[in-house]
Amino acid sequence: MKLYSTRNLNEIKNPKDAIIKGLSDDGGLYCPKFEDIVAHKFDIKNLLSNDYKATAKLVFKIFFDDFTDAEIDNCINLAYNKNNFDVDSRRGEHCEPAFNIAPVTKIGDNYLMELYHGPTSAFKDVALTILPQFLTTAYKSKGQNKKVYILTATSGDTGKAALSGFKDVENTIITVFYPTDGVSNIQKLQMQTSEGKNVSVVALKGDFDDCQRLVKEIYTDNEIKKLCEENNVVLSSANSINIGRLVPQIVYYIQTYIDLVNANNIKIGDKINFVVPTGNFGDILAGFIAKLLGTPIDKLICASNDNNVLTDFINTGIYNEKRELYKTISPSMDILVSSNLERLLFLLSGNDADFVNGLMGSLNKTGEYKIEDNLLNKIKEHFVAYYATQDECKKTIKDAFENEKRIIDTHTAVAYACLKKYLTSSIGSNACGAICRGEHCEPSVVLSTASPYKFARDVLKCICDSDVDAIDDFECLDKLNELTKEPIPKNLAALKTKEKRFGTTLAYEECKNFVINNIEK
Ligand SMILES: *Cc1c(COP(=O)(O)O)cnc(C)c1O
Repeated sequence: MKLYSTRNLNEIKNPKDAIIKGLSDDGGLYCPKFEDIVAHKFDIKNLLSNDYKATAKLVFKIFFDDFTDAEIDNCINLAYNKNNFDVDSRRGEHCEPAFNIAPVTKIGDNYLMELYHGPTSAFKDVALTILPQFLTTAYKSKGQNKKVYILTATSGDTGKAALSGFKDVENTIITVFYPTDGVSNIQKLQMQTSEGKNVSVVALKGDFDDCQRLVKEIYTDNEIKKLCEENNVVLSSANSINIGRLVPQIVYYIQTYIDLVNANNIKIGDKINFVVPTGNFGDILAGFIAKLLGTPIDKLICASNDNNVLTDFINTGIYNEKRELYKTISPSMDILVSSNLERLLFLLSGNDADFVNGLMGSLNKTGEYKIEDNLLNKIKEHFVAYYATQDECKKTIKDAFENEKRIIDTHTAVAYACLKKYLTSSIGSNACGAICRGEHCEPSVVLSTASPYKFARDVLKCICDSDVDAIDDFECLDKLNELTKEPIPKNLAALKTKEKRFGTTLAYEECKNFVINNIEK
């Protein structure tokens, strides 16, 4: 599969090189052409006996076709196993027999795809347990003896998932930048207590967009490029700009469909919707690619919090980042510049890299761009967009607990609130909450992207009356445990006794030097 820079069609890489490189020098993201994806369309009927790993293999063979079968199997086995994914602890009645890292359970008349059973209790584990495997495999087969330096900006969850995935991985070093006040206490603790000889963590004085801008700037900085060459270092990225992050996320959309058919919840061919709590647009873009590959998906519902840039864009065609960034209780979605949207624009404009380059130039210069109705209508064929305010998110957590006996985290709640908005606005929606088209009921799957334990304090505040501010974070975990009866994820319980290793806070201007020091080490 040839991968093109979204900003320059002459910049082409094979998958292994694109995974190593992360971001193209021109600032573009590596992406297949639209028609090259569609050429691999499958008939979902033939996939019904697939378990998660079989579907993963199918997807990886399409997009990473310069990996051998044995390499792919090895990557899958090292990432998707019971050490990393604690899926047996789920409540009994919902358990399915097969090992599935993304089990589907009911919420009301719709479904939750539980993506938070990995080592850091958020969905980013699905991609970040396997990205280091892809990267080291790609790297080894190049026979190079360079060191890969992973720079990662995080709004909270990517950081820890990347630190965990790359911990002590041979020939790699990793630095994570998180915004000083943009992440939850537990997220901060998770990162500050990271283990591994090759990891470092920096709190950057700024917001997530500053972290992301910093990383992009460092990649394209000439002084740093020169230093890297002199020191035998290549820079790469664990952010969702890396194609190695995006592709593993396609798998669970397909597998969820297969599981729903096999559980007799839908009939083969029935269309379903996915509701995705969105920040950088990576997760939902993976859903779009699953649709292009032949998964019967009707709408991808793009759910935002108060930072509703994407809601405005999908409804009006105007992307405008010139607005205040609100700090919310769903911090992983507090983003104004959604990087992966660039890949959608590339794919739906017919791989028009010059056009995309123009839009991104305008975003850089003026903070906004506008697309024509023709392209906007293509986007609307596949996507609808809603946002939920902080109050709506809180109320949704309370309602889901009281009415549906489910405890959902603050990000999942944004998505669930948006699903309810979609259902009430859809013509023909019936009392059961599913959308009716004639005789056909269309169920929706909400991507549940984090364990409620990861945001225990905010979740508790929504569902219990006692004074949550009076107790510490670990008491919050215990209290939530009393209510949910589900076990506290091991990685979160363990934070209590772990040593804090990283307390560095730096201003934007100081970060480049920090990186230079690491390159020269
Ligand atoms: C990262 C994240 C999101 C947003 O995913 P994108 O791929 O950035 O759109 C949503 N929820 C949680 C819990 C996350 O960590």
